[in-house]
Amino acid sequence: CGIVAYVGHREACPVIIKGLKRLEYRGYDSAGIALMNGSLNVYKKKGKVADLEAALADVDTHGNIGIGHTRWATHGEPNDVNAHPHYSTSRNIAIIHNGIIENYASLKQLLIQKGHTFQSETDSEVFINLIEDIRVNNNCSLPEAVRLAMHEVVGAYAIVVLSKDTPNQLIAARKGSPLVVGIGKGEFFLASDATPIIEYTNEVVYLNDYELAVIHDGQLDIRTKEDVKKTPYVQTLEM
Ligand code: GLU
Repeated sequence: CGIVAYVGHREACPVIIKGLKRLEYRGYDSAGIALMNGSLNVYKKKGKVADLEAALADVDTHGNIGIGHTRWATHGEPNDVNAHPHYSTSRNIAIIHNGIIENYASLKQLLIQKGHTFQSETDSEVFINLIEDIRVNNNCSLPEAVRLAMHEVVGAYAIVVLSKDTPNQLIAARKGSPLVVGIGKGEFFLASDATPIIEYTNEVVYLNDYELAVIHDGQLDIRTKEDVKKTPYVQTLEM
C-alpha cells in the first residue's frame, strides 16, 4: 500500500516513520521498517504506524538508510508476520512491496524445492526469495538479480530492496504500481507518491513500468528490465 525509503545524511528512521504517517490516508492494516546499523533489522506490527513507533521506542534505530511500508493485505491475513518488510531465507536482503504477484504460488513451490523457507503467507516474501535465488545461482549483483526477477514475476509491483552486503544501496523497481524518487542534496527518497517527499525536496523522478532504479554512492541509475540505461527525467514539483 504505502512505501517510504531513505538514504542520505539524516537519521533514516524518523524520516521513514513521518513519511509513513503522511501515507496513512491511503488506508492500511500494518506497518514495518527495515534499518541497517551493522546488521539488517526488521521491525513490524499489525495496527497503526504509531504502534510501530511504540515498538521502536526501546530499540537502537540509528542509521542512515532504511525502508518502510504500510500494508493493505491481499495475500495472508493482517498480522505481525505478514507485515512488511520481508527477509529472504538468508536474512541478508529485505523487501517492501506494493501490489500483487499473480504467479506467486508456482514460484513458491519451486523455491521451496530449492530449499528456501517462508515465514509468511505473502506473495511479497516469494519475490525476495526469487531475487535471492537468482543472485546466488547466477553469482550476479543484487541489482542484476532484481532485473532478472522482473522477467519471472507476473502481476503488479512497486518494490524497494535493501541488502546487508551493500549497506549504502537502495534498489527499486515498478510495474503497475507507482513509485517516485526524490532527489535531495546528497540524499534520496523513495515513495509510493510524492506526499512524504515534498518537505525535503521538489526534485523528483517518476519511475516508469519495467524500470529499475539503483541508488548508490550518491548516484541514481535507471535502466529498463531489458538493461537499457535511461537518463532520469527530473521534474520540479510545485511546493
Ligand atoms: N500483496 C502484498 C501483501 O499482501 C502487498 C500488499 C500491499 O500492497 O500493501 O502483503
